[in-house]
Amino acid sequence: MIVILRQNVSDADIAEVSAVLEARGLGIHLSRGVETTIIGAIGAVDEEKAELANQLSTLDCVDRVVPISKPYKVVARAFRPEGTTVTVRGVTIGGPQLCVMAGPCTIESEEMLLSTARFVKAHGANVLRGGAFKPSTSPYSFHGMGEAGLRLLSQARDETGMPVITEVMDPRDVEMVAGYSDILQIGTRNMTNFTLLREIGNVRIPVMLKRGWASTIEEWLQAAEYIASRGNYQIILCERGIRTFETYTRNTFDLNAIPAVKELSHLPLIADPAHGTGRWSLVSAVARGAVAAGADGVMVEVHPTPHCALKDGAQSLTFPSFEKLMQGLRPVAEAVSRSV
Ligand code: PEP
Ligand code: MN
Repeated sequence: MIVILRQNVSDADIAEVSAVLEARGLGIHLSRGVETTIIGAIGAVDEEKAELANQLSTLDCVDRVVPISKPYKVVARAFRPEGTTVTVRGVTIGGPQLCVMAGPCTIESEEMLLSTARFVKAHGANVLRGGAFKPSTSPYSFHGMGEAGLRLLSQARDETGMPVITEVMDPRDVEMVAGYSDILQIGTRNMTNFTLLREIGNVRIPVMLKRGWASTIEEWLQAAEYIASRGNYQIILCERGIRTFETYTRNTFDLNAIPAVKELSHLPLIADPAHGTGRWSLVSAVARGAVAAGADGVMVEVHPTPHCALKDGAQSLTFPSFEKLMQGLRPVAEAVSRSV
């Protein structure tokens, strides 16, 4: 249930309500918006909810108590009706400015990472991506440079000033990867790795949670709830396509999910049209569609020479095609009152 407090409540009021909830053994999640302060109380059993709601309503500082029937609570829209933003090194995700994340699928060498970082930065990217630990369906494909790749990533961050994002696959690596990266990415294959989700919930750095390739929107939001329930509220969702019967594209980018998630959750959302299509020639158009539908930004793969890429070359943009993508995004962003 969520307890909506009256405007201009004091810290003492919040402490008073929290104490009542804590005495009942409930988990407390505080959301202090500009207008409203909301306390999420997690763990009440159905039988005690009505009585607890009545009890809380007698407090002057409580405006109303609303039950949340959804299986996710802290990430539900009702908990933060005005939406959440995540800010990392001066870049805000979920605000009026779109966030463009760009870089290679996989870090292959210093030269390719740095040249890509410089190019995308010069053409308007806000966050540099690059995989050092690569999940692969095949045990025989390249699995990334590991920690050596992370060192290159932080070198690129130091040189360009762009925050960086990279995937973490193993719960045992979370702390180490967090030592190099500004945002942790949870890949599609790990969306239901609950050990990893819990571990990420324990750190206090932003995380981008990709949708599982066979997960419903509700399962995806429950995965986000795993992270939020442990106190890490800096969550960004990423729609990256789901598997359907279609084989022309690598996945089917789920445009529906964008306005649906915006309705259901307050979390910012990034679209990944690269994995969503698997074809570089479709990436720009789908990116524009995603922005028109309300995405807070896009993540794309960029490679100096996609035909030589060790992974995901077919969906990677060349430097000139990245420049075109950026040009194409601007008018669409403007049409939905955003900027790039
Ligand atoms: C990636 O971003 O390179 C990646 C592996 O993405 P996903 O987990 O969506 O396949
Ligand atoms: Mn990739």
